[in-house]
Amino acid sequence: MTFEQLKLIPPILKALAKENYRQPTPIQEQAIPPVLAGRDLFGCAQTGTGKTAAFLLPIIQLLSSQQGRPSGGKRVIRSLILTPTRELAIQISDNFKSYGRFSNLRSAVIVGGVSQKAQEQALEQGMDILIATPGRLIDLMNQGFADLRHVQILVLDEADRMLDMGFIHDMRRIIAKLPAKRQTLFFSATMPPEITSLVNSLLTNPMKIEI
Ligand code: AMP
Repeated sequence: MTFEQLKLIPPILKALAKENYRQPTPIQEQAIPPVLAGRDLFGCAQTGTGKTAAFLLPIIQLLSSQQGRPSGGKRVIRSLILTPTRELAIQISDNFKSYGRFSNLRSAVIVGGVSQKAQEQALEQGMDILIATPGRLIDLMNQGFADLRHVQILVLDEADRMLDMGFIHDMRRIIAKLPAKRQTLFFSATMPPEITSLVNSLLTNPMKIEI
C-alpha cells in the first residue's frame, strides 16, 4: 500500500516524501480512508504506531478542501485536538508543521505552564487547528477567548491518559461547547470500562481499529 493509494492530495504527498515516509503504517492504512469519508473513529493504539499522522493527514486534507474563513473574516477553529500533556501537544504541533507545510492551514498550541498572553493573541488572530491540553483550554474558554462553535473534527488523543490525569470533567465541559454534528476521532492505548462508556457516549457508528 502507498500513500497515493490512500488518495491523499499532492501537497500532503509532497510533505510525506520530504519526511522520507515510504509507506503508511498499519494504523494509517486503516484509519485514513474512513476518516476521509467522514466517519468517526475509535483507534486502540500506542504511541509509536504512527497514530498522529493517521489523524493529522486526513484532517489536513479535509480542511484544505474547504473555505476556512466564514464570510471572508478571520480563520475559525475547525479542528480541535485534545491531548493529556504539553509534550504531546508540542509533538503533534511539530508533526502538523511537517505534514501541513505545503497546505495553507494554521495551527496553535494551548497548554498550561506557560504565559497565557501569546495564546490569547493566537486565538484572537484565528487558526484552523487548535491543539490543546484540557485545563488551559477551559481557562481560556471561561475568559471568552476560545470560540469552538465551528469545530467539525474533534480528536481525543491518549484518552485513557487524560482520564488518568483527572481531565474527564474538563473534557466533558469542552465537548459540550462543540457542535453536536461533528466527526470525532478517539484514540486510547487501553480499554478500561470508563473508556468504553466515553466511546459509546461520544462516537456514532465508529470505525474500530486495534493495532
Ligand atoms: P506516533 O505513533 O504518531 O508518535 O509516530 C511515531 C514515529 O513514527 C514518529 O517519529 C513519526 O514521525 C514516525 N512515522 C509516522 N508515520 C510514519 C510512516 N508512514 N513512515 C515512517 N515513519 C513514520
